[in-house]
Amino acid sequence: MKVLKFGGTSVKDAQAMKHVADILSHYPPVTIVVLSATAGTTDTLIKLVFHATEGQHDAFMETKQQLVGKHYKIIDDLGLKMDRSVCESVDEIFSTLSVFLEGIYLLRESTNRVKDAVVASGELLSTHIFAAYLKTQYPDTAWFDVRNVITTDDHFGSAHVDLKTSQKRYNQKMKPLLKRNRFIITQGFLGSTLNGLTTTLGRGGSDYSATLIGNLSNAESIEIWTDSDGVMTADPRFIPQAFSQRELSFKEAAELSYFGAKVLHPYTMLPAMEKNLPVQVKNTMKPKDPGTVIAHESRQIGQPKSIAFRRNITTVTIESSRMLNAYGFLERIFDVFARYQISIDLVSTSEISVSLTLEKTEYLDKIVQELKAFASVRISDKMAIVSIVGEDIKNSQSFLKRAFYAVDIIPIEMISFGASNVNLSFVISEMHVETVVKKLHREFFESGKNESTV
Ligand code: ADP
Ligand code: ASP
Ligand code: MG
Repeated sequence: MKVLKFGGTSVKDAQAMKHVADILSHYPPVTIVVLSATAGTTDTLIKLVFHATEGQHDAFMETKQQLVGKHYKIIDDLGLKMDRSVCESVDEIFSTLSVFLEGIYLLRESTNRVKDAVVASGELLSTHIFAAYLKTQYPDTAWFDVRNVITTDDHFGSAHVDLKTSQKRYNQKMKPLLKRNRFIITQGFLGSTLNGLTTTLGRGGSDYSATLIGNLSNAESIEIWTDSDGVMTADPRFIPQAFSQRELSFKEAAELSYFGAKVLHPYTMLPAMEKNLPVQVKNTMKPKDPGTVIAHESRQIGQPKSIAFRRNITTVTIESSRMLNAYGFLERIFDVFARYQISIDLVSTSEISVSLTLEKTEYLDKIVQELKAFASVRISDKMAIVSIVGEDIKNSQSFLKRAFYAVDIIPIEMISFGASNVNLSFVISEMHVETVVKKLHREFFESGKNESTV
């Protein structure tokens, strides 16, 4: 059994949904299909919350009507207008959405909890419509509410999954459906607390949902269908010369997604790695193209595979002569960040200073205040991390020479290398990202695969 996930652009309108149904016709019973909201819908729902919070009633009514129109057009174009069941489900989602928005409007306040309840409408809509369409061809198609399985904590907006409870609930609620159906259509991105409150897994979280369900169902493999030719040597929107990699290791894909390759949500690989389940990333518009297979091992080690970047990074440099020959100093520093639940991405240390990078700057003022009690602190914002990823690059002879040659005269704030053996990261100013990514791509992927221009 396979788990297939289709992203927002893959289900953006009726034609796209018909195309997905064609792809599915080649899959044997039983296949679990995880869908995102139709392209742009999650962004629109977030905008609705914004309008309601700002007291812009007309704006949210108008935007909501556009969303209703968009989804009813898909229903119409799929020939489902007379399907009472799907129309009732869709109407109910929109009336619940209206209640939430009126509530936000009245209070002029929105919390992450209510935002999750609102954005969940996107995946609920796309799956109801698509399941109804697929049913016209395969009556043994079931719609399933994933919130009955994916159990999370109440960290609304990017909830943490409790795999053990999710497994129990999968066995009770979803597994029995496998015997009776050819297709099970369910939502990506969503989860629920034990008390039944809707949560989400973070933007782009449907990829993670797919591997979670793959893990729970012991799937033979997971396929992530998107709008690019698998995982490429860089973001093709940024680097037109980027080309797809046929194979990646789990570690490589995990590192790439973590360091900004939007094609996979940062946690996607974890559930797959745990059960050694291969993940294939494929282009919905080119079903015959093999895309990228991500599995335990990569046959080509010692070579860079792709370049990723993350913007909006803040670096914090903490310096104190008291660090000299002292023990427990790093612990003291990390303890401050831990108490504010801020995760640190890269760290670099010298005898008397520590530099680290953060993505979230919530509580930064308070953190700095605490750190200043025992050290001097320097903050740089508008920074970026550019990472070159490839298993065993550390042992490749010319790798470092080529990487530094490519980065050339660009000022580097921090370097991280060696800890993982799959990643070399440069922390640079945001304004140099484009130049650095282009130069690195040219050096490693456009100048003949193994040749150095050095
Ligand atoms: P979906 O809606 O299918 O989840 P996303 O927009 O979330 O699609 O992710 C696909 C996009 O990720 C691509 O269109 C591409 O611009 C971007 N991307 C970033 N890095 C990479 C990469 N290394 N390989 C392929 N695509 C990438
Ligand atoms: N619809 C959600 C988002 O846009 C989740 C996803 O598409 O993966 O972030
Ligand atoms: Mg995505």
